[in-house]
Amino acid sequence: MIRILQPDFQYESIQCISIEDLVNNGIKGLLLDLDNTISPWNDKSLTGDVIDWFNRIKAQGIKACIVSNSRRPDRVAAVADILGIEYVYQAAKPRKKGFLRGITHLGLRPEQVAIVGDQLLTDVLGGKRVGIKTILLMPIDEREFGGTKILRFLERLFGRKIYYTKNILKNLQAQNKQ
Ligand SMILES: [Mg+2]
Repeated sequence: MIRILQPDFQYESIQCISIEDLVNNGIKGLLLDLDNTISPWNDKSLTGDVIDWFNRIKAQGIKACIVSNSRRPDRVAAVADILGIEYVYQAAKPRKKGFLRGITHLGLRPEQVAIVGDQLLTDVLGGKRVGIKTILLMPIDEREFGGTKILRFLERLFGRKIYYTKNILKNLQAQNKQ
C-alpha cells in the first residue's frame, strides 16, 4: 500500500475497536466519520452495540467528535445528539479544515487524536495530512453486501484487511463448490 494511505489500525467495525489499544497509544480523542462508519449511508439509525461502545470510550475519558462530509446538518446533529458529542458537517475531507475544526472541538493536540473512518481517500488521507493517527474500518454496507471479486481485488490493491461476515463466507463457499 502507498504509505500515505497506510492506516495505523484496522478493525472490522466501530464496536471492534480495542479501547485498550486507544489508551495504550495515548489517544484521548476521536474524530469519527458518520456515513458507513457510525451508521449506514444516509441513515441516522444507531445499533445498541455502537451506542454501548461510545459509552465505554466516554467512561475511559476518551472524547469524540463527528467529522462528516454530509451536507445535511440536521442528520449529523441528530446522531451527535444521541451520542452526546460535538460534530462538524460539510467537512470536505480529505481537506484539512474539517479535521482541524474537529481537533479544536476536542481541545486536544493532534498527537492525542485519531480519525475513525471507512474510506482511505477521505478519512485516512486527510488524517495523515493533519498528523493524527488513522483507524480504518470496513464500510457498514460492504460488510453486509460486499464480497464480490472486484471488491476483494480493490481491497488487496489498497492493502485493506479483509473481513467477511457469515453471509459472505457462505457465498464464497458456495462459489468454490461450483
Ligand atoms: Mg464514510
